[in-house]
This record gives sequence, C-alpha cells and structure tokens, in this order.
Amino acid sequence: MNNSWIKRKKTDHIFVGDVGVGGDHPISVQSMTNTNTADVQATVNQIEQLQAAGADIVRVSVPDNECAKAFKKIKGSVSIPLVADIHFDYKIALLVADSADCLRINPGNIGKEAKVKEIIQAATDNNIPIRIGVNAGSLEKDLQKKYGEPNSDALVESALRHVDILDKHDFSNFKLSLKASNIQMTVESYRKISELLDQPLHLGITESGSYRAGSVKSSIGLGMLLSEGIGDTVRVSLASDPVDEVKIGWDILKSLNLRSRGIRIVACPSCSRQNFNVIEVVNELETRFEGISEDLEVAIIGCYVNGPGESKAADVGLTGGPSNLLYVDGLPSKKISNEKLVDTIEEQVKEQLQKKNAVEIIVKG
Ligand code: SF4
Repeated sequence: MNNSWIKRKKTDHIFVGDVGVGGDHPISVQSMTNTNTADVQATVNQIEQLQAAGADIVRVSVPDNECAKAFKKIKGSVSIPLVADIHFDYKIALLVADSADCLRINPGNIGKEAKVKEIIQAATDNNIPIRIGVNAGSLEKDLQKKYGEPNSDALVESALRHVDILDKHDFSNFKLSLKASNIQMTVESYRKISELLDQPLHLGITESGSYRAGSVKSSIGLGMLLSEGIGDTVRVSLASDPVDEVKIGWDILKSLNLRSRGIRIVACPSCSRQNFNVIEVVNELETRFEGISEDLEVAIIGCYVNGPGESKAADVGLTGGPSNLLYVDGLPSKKISNEKLVDTIEEQVKEQLQKKNAVEIIVKG
C-alpha cells in the first residue's frame, strides 16, 4: 500500500538478498539480533522471531572470526536476508562476504582506503551491496577534530569520503545511513545527503533509548524524514526486545500510510461514556491478531459519539451502546453482548480475511 500523501524521493535501488531497497520498492523494516552470534541456535531462533514479526531484513553483528564462522551457519538456516555488521576489522567482512546479503561497514573505524578497497572487491565478487553506516558516536578522529563535536556536516563529510572511495572503484551497489542519537542532527544529515546523492537511505535514530522513550524519539525522527519522502529502509533502535523494533518500525510506516501489514485497530481512548471496557477489548484483540499479516481495519469505539462514523469507515467496526452494534463493510450487522465482544469480532475479522482472499484469488485467476 502506498496511498500516502507523501511523495517519496525515487532513489536508485539495490537488492539485499531478494529485498529491493530504494526506487519503487516498499520501505523495508529491519532489526538487529542481540544474541551472541557465536550461539548459532539462539541467533537463528531470534531471526525467526523477527521474521515472524514482519522484519524484511535482519542485521547480525560479526565481531570476530568465531562469529564469522557462526554467521555462515546461521545464514544456511534462515530464509530472510542477512546483513553482516562489521566494525574495526575489515578481514571479517572478507570472511563473510560469500554468505552475507549485505556488508555494513562503519567509515569511522574500518580504516584506510586499501582496506575498503578489499571489501569492495569482496562485495563485487559476491554481487552483494555495502551499507556505509556513519554514526555520530564513532566518527573518524580527524573529523572529530575538524568539527569539534559531531554535527550533520561532519556526518555528511564522513559519508561522502567513503562514497568517493566506492565511486573510484566503480562500485554503486550501496546504501547509506547517517545516524545520531540526536533527532535534529540525524534529520539534518539525512536531508543534506538526500539532496546530494540518489543512493537508497537506511534511516535510524541510533541509541534512541528505552522502549517508550526510544519509540517516541524514533517515531518523531523517522516520521519527519519519511514524511518528506526521505528513506528506503528503517531500523528503530531500542534498548528492548528486537521484536519491538520491528513492531514500532511497522507502526511508523502504517501511521504514515506508507505500508500496511496486519490488523489496524482504530480505537477511542475511552471515557465514562463507554459501554464496554474499550482498553481491555483492544488489548485482547491486539494479542489475538498478532500473527495476522493481512491488512484490515477494525474500529473499536466505546459509544455513539464517534462510533458510527469510525465503524462505517472500517472493514469491521464496533460501536458501544446499550446494545453494542457490530458493523461489517460499513453497514450495521448485529447486536453483541459485552461478554461476546472479543470472540465475535475475532470471528468476523477471520471471515472478512477469507472473503478478501477469495476475491484476490478470483482477481488473480
Ligand atoms: S467515543 Fe465515546 S467512549 Fe470513546 S472516548 Fe469518545 S465519548 Fe468516550
């Protein structure tokens, strides 16, 4: 879905495995494992959880040779594209290039051009892209000295230096990120680089914080950029379960109508006019709908103030009243007692999904 009011910049595109990033490809959602990469089983399990939550791409940290060996085994056990996250030691990038779907390098710590050149060669040999991942917390020392403290110009200069190296070696299969934990610096950096280059951009507010604070910060920062049409793939960085990163990433895209996935619940905040416990019903439905990836809108509204309007606009709607009223496809359908609300709505949603699938099969057939 992209019925958004946002006019997205059409960047060049690359492929991370089978996931297109940039151009007309949907904005992808990424996360990163936080298991010990050397623990193959634990990492595979987490990757599968991330995939089930809706991740399109997963990044895995590869800090040493043992993890490089594990990375290959992990890659052999999962079906989602994997980005190998490399810092400090360019040789690790060379070790995993034949199994990774993308190599992420950090200009601030990867070292001299000769090392980057070897990584470019490995990426070329294996036909995989590179992500130049600039981070305000690990800028090159000379840039730190030049600018005194990290700012958007320093981040852009760091990125451009590496873009020059890639250009020099005729390598255009890359995307960029310019992250800071400060929203203003991040937004300014991406705006500037987006003016200068057409490469796909990976968005993120780095080290954004705890689940709550980080989600808010990421939503504001990524929301500003995405609403300006900037960004081709997103990673929400949270000090939380990585599955939360995927869910928040999706919620950001869904809020901007840039992509859809799963049941979108429109709910009123509830007040003393409510005729059933809106919060309880919404929480229970959200849990029950967690595994559904098809797109459908459900409105759960506590009373007649806003109920009919929202219910008519949704695929399935519920308006609280002395007799709660269920709406299907915008029309009043039947009355439901408070005890049967959740079960009835769940059944109705499943029925709607079946109907939708049947229509899609007929259309495709
Ligand atoms: S829709 Fe009704 S119950 Fe919900 S917040 Fe508004 S007035 Fe309160």
